[in-house]
Amino acid sequence: NAFQNTEFGESRIRLNMEGALTARDRVGVQDFVLLDSYTSEVAFLDNLRKRFRENLIYTYIGTLLVSVNPYKDLDIYTHKQMELYMGVNFFELPPHIYALADNAYRVMCTEFNNHFILISGESGAGKTEASKKILQYYAVTCPTTQELQAVRDCLLLSNPVLEAFGNAKTLRNDNSSRFGKYMDIQFNYKGEPVGGHIISYLLEKSRVVHQNHGERNFHIFYQLLEGGEEELLRWLGLEQNPQNYNYLIQGQCAKVSSVNDKSDWRTVRKAFSVIDFEENVLEHLFGIVASILHLGNIQYDEDNHGHAIIPNDSSLRWISKLLGVPLSLLQEALLHRKIEAKSEEVLSPLNLDLAFYARDALAKAIYGRTFTWLVNKINESLANQDPSRKTVIGLLDIYGFEVFDINSFEQFCINYCNEKLQQLLIELTLKSEQEEYEMEGIEWEPIQYFNNKIICDVIEEKHKGIISILDEECLRRGEATDLTFLKKLEDKLGNHPHILTHKFADQKIRKSMDLEDFKLFHYAGEVTYCVIGFLDKNNDLLYRNLKEVMCVARNQIIKQCFLAAELDSKKLPQTVVTQFKNSLSGLIEILKSKEPSYVRCIKPNDAKQPGRFDDVLIRHQIKYLGLMEHLRVRRAGFAYRRKYETFLQRYKPLCPDTWPHWHGPVIKGVEILVKHIGYKPEDYKLGRNKIFIRYAKTLFATEDAYEIC
Ligand code: ATP
Ligand code: MG
Repeated sequence: NAFQNTEFGESRIRLNMEGALTARDRVGVQDFVLLDSYTSEVAFLDNLRKRFRENLIYTYIGTLLVSVNPYKDLDIYTHKQMELYMGVNFFELPPHIYALADNAYRVMCTEFNNHFILISGESGAGKTEASKKILQYYAVTCPTTQELQAVRDCLLLSNPVLEAFGNAKTLRNDNSSRFGKYMDIQFNYKGEPVGGHIISYLLEKSRVVHQNHGERNFHIFYQLLEGGEEELLRWLGLEQNPQNYNYLIQGQCAKVSSVNDKSDWRTVRKAFSVIDFEENVLEHLFGIVASILHLGNIQYDEDNHGHAIIPNDSSLRWISKLLGVPLSLLQEALLHRKIEAKSEEVLSPLNLDLAFYARDALAKAIYGRTFTWLVNKINESLANQDPSRKTVIGLLDIYGFEVFDINSFEQFCINYCNEKLQQLLIELTLKSEQEEYEMEGIEWEPIQYFNNKIICDVIEEKHKGIISILDEECLRRGEATDLTFLKKLEDKLGNHPHILTHKFADQKIRKSMDLEDFKLFHYAGEVTYCVIGFLDKNNDLLYRNLKEVMCVARNQIIKQCFLAAELDSKKLPQTVVTQFKNSLSGLIEILKSKEPSYVRCIKPNDAKQPGRFDDVLIRHQIKYLGLMEHLRVRRAGFAYRRKYETFLQRYKPLCPDTWPHWHGPVIKGVEILVKHIGYKPEDYKLGRNKIFIRYAKTLFATEDAYEIC
C-alpha cells in the first residue's frame, strides 16, 4: 500500500540521505523541520499537500503531530500497524498518531509521570477520531490481565454511548461533539490500564429544542426511532418516523447519508450492556429520551384571558407515565409559574410565549442533567479498583473553534474555550521553550508570536470582561435585556482592539452587521455574535414548580437528577458562563500538572470530501494554529534536551572515559562523551543543567549505538 511503500522507503532513504531527493519530491518530508525553508508558508503548504495526495495525513513538527482529515478510511490503523509502532523510537517510523501515543506511554512508564494529549483543530478536523485512535492503540498494545479486560472494554465503549448523547450533525461535521471531554486513562506501575475518569464540559443543550437548518438534534433520538425494537417503541409511545416530532424537524435533515442510525443503535445497546447498565436502568433512560420527544409535541392554545392551555393531553400522558409524575401536577406546572409573594405562594398562569419557554426549559434541563448522570454512571464503571501507584494519560477532545452565519451564546462559549486552550499551548510551547533557553543560558534569537492573552482577558477579566458584564445583566432580572447587555458591552469595551460593535464600526462593516451583533477578533479569526438569547441561555432558568414536579418523579434517573435539596437552597445558582469559566480554569490546572503532547488537526475542505485540499482554508488554519511559529521555534531550537545526569547515565557505556563511572562534573562527562561519539559543535549546545541536541537524528544515532553496544 501507498503508505508503506513511500513512507517506509522514505525513512530508509532519509537515514542514508542518498536518493532522498526523489522521494522528497513526491511525498514531501515527514518532519517540517527538514524543509529547506522554514519561514515559507508556501513551502509548508506544499509539503502538506504532497503528503495529503499520497494519503500521508500525518507530519511532524518536531514532536508535535499535524494531522489532515482524509475524509476516507485509510488502511493505517490495523493491529499490524499498532505492533509496528510499539516501543519504537518516535522518529524511526513514519509519523503516526500511534507514534505519539506510544511515546507518551513509554515516557510515562519510564519516568512515572502524568501526561496529557491535547488535540485541537476546528470543528470537523478530526479531533474525536484522533482521540479514538489513541484509545484503541492503548487498548490493543498495553499489557493487561484477565481481570482488567473489563476496564479496557469500558474505556473503549464509553465512546459510542457518550457520542450518541453528546454528538450531533452540524453544518460543519456530521458527528460533531457538542460537549467537551477530558478523559484520564489510569495505569498501574506495570503499565496496565486499570481505570479511567471522564469530565464533561458544557453540553450544548439548546440543541434539544432547537436546530438550525441542515442540523440535527443529538444522535440518540434518531437512533432510538430508527433502531428501537417495535415493542420498545410501543412501550415508549413513539412512532418510528422522526417527522412526527417537533424537536426533530426544525433542521429538516433527519437522514444523514454518512450516519447509520440503525447500526449505531445496535452499537450503543451493546456498549450499554458491556459498561454495566442494567436493563431496568436503560428503561428509565430511554423513557427520558422519549419523554423529551413527547414534551416537544405538547401544543398550547390560548383561552379567553390570554392564558395558555393544553388542548390535547396525549403527550402529557406519556410523559407522566414514563417519568412517573402525576399528570395533574405536570400539567399545572407547565401552565403556571409559582410566585412567592409575602410568604404566600401564588400560581400565576403563563401566556403562550412563556408556556413554550417553560416547556423547552424543562426539556433542556432534563436532557442536560441526564447527560451529567450518564457521565457519572460511566465513571462508576471506569473507577479504578487497583490501589497501587498509578499514573495517567489524559486525552482532551473538546469542541473545535466554530463560526456559523449566525453565532450565539454556545459559539461564544466554545470559542472562548478554544481561546483558553490556545493560551495554554502558547504558554507550554512557545513561551516556555524560549524561557528555558534563557534559563539555561543558551544563545537564542527570540521568535515573535501572537499571544492571545489579550483576547482571553477581554472575555474573562474580573469586573471588566464580557463574562462579567453578561453576569451583571443577568442579575438585573426583569430590567435587563439582551440589548442592554450589548449596550453595556459597547460602553465599557467599545474601544477594545479585539471587539467591534455597531456604533464603532465603519460604514462598510456596519452594513454587514445587525443591530444585535458584536464582533470578536479571536486568534482564529473574526466571529460575529448575535446577542439575542444570551441572557436567557446564561440564566438557564427552570421555573421552580417544574423542578418540584421533577423532584417527585418515580423515574430513578430523574430522581437522582433533581434533588429536593436544590429547592431549599437559598444560594443564587451560578450562571452558565461562570460555571463554564470555572470548570475551564480547573481543566487548565489539571493539564498544567502534566507532560504535554500535541496533535493539531486540519480540515482540508468544507465539503467533507476526500481528496480535496483547499489551499485557502488550510492556509488559514496553518496560520491560526500557529504552526509556522512552532516550526520556527523548533528549527531554530533544539529537538531534544536531556538533563546531564540522565544523558550520561544512559550513554556512558559509549565512551571509555565515562564507563563504568565518571567522577568529575557531569557537564564535563557529557562533553567528553559526545565528542567521543562524534557530535559536531553545531549539533548540540551545553546549557546550565541540560544538553540541547539540535536534530532528532543525532540522538537516534546515539540511541542506536547504545542498543548495539
Ligand atoms: P468537532 O469539533 O465538530 O467535534 P472533530 O474535530 O471532533 O469535530 P471528527 O468528528 O473527529 O471531527 O471528524 C469528522 C469526520 O471526519 C469523521 O466523522 C470522519 O468521517 C472523518 N475523519 C476524521 N479523521 C479521520 C481519519 N483519521 N480517518 C478517516 N476519516 C476521518
Ligand atoms: Mg469531535
